[in-house]
Amino acid sequence: MSFSSLDRKKKILELLQKQGSASIQELAGIFEVSTMTIHRDLNKLAEAGHIQKKHGGVTLPDMLPGVSGEFLCAMCKKPVSERTVFIVQFENGEQKRACCAHCGLMIQSQSKGAWQSLTVDYLHGHMVSASQAFYVMGSEISICCVPSVLSFGSQQEAEKYQKGFGGSLMNMAAAIRHLQGMMHVQKQGA
Ligand SMILES: [Zn+2]
Ligand SMILES: [Zn+2]
Repeated sequence: MSFSSLDRKKKILELLQKQGSASIQELAGIFEVSTMTIHRDLNKLAEAGHIQKKHGGVTLPDMLPGVSGEFLCAMCKKPVSERTVFIVQFENGEQKRACCAHCGLMIQSQSKGAWQSLTVDYLHGHMVSASQAFYVMGSEISICCVPSVLSFGSQQEAEKYQKGFGGSLMNMAAAIRHLQGMMHVQKQGA
């Protein structure tokens, strides 16, 4: 069986989601390619923040401690992952957590009194202000809701990600407009 480089990258992520980690040897065996080829795939994935390279293998990135756990997305009820959590804070001190920026931006646009929001920089795994983040909408690798919305603290890094994995670069207002437009189309189609 032969896979394109992008297919391999998608499969590697699926595999890591299932089994947590994998060795380079193992991946080379699965895809029937050289370890050099796997190294190149992994470098691209690691640069984009999808994985972490560890001694002789790879894992999904470390989680931010304490932001998710038992939480379910306030929009779609999926379990919230520390990797992609989006937190909407309200003027009254309440917080809503979303599984990813896709749901988070929807919550924010639909809620009155949303005061400020935080999203996770996909590359570095730390929280950034959602209003100042850059969003890559609809890239080829989706890790949560579709179309995938990934957040970046730096415009340069968002552009770099977009070059490797596609999608459109947007600021927060444009990303919300885009998601709302899609919801509208879905409703009309139903
Ligand atoms: Zn959600
Ligand atoms: Zn999601």
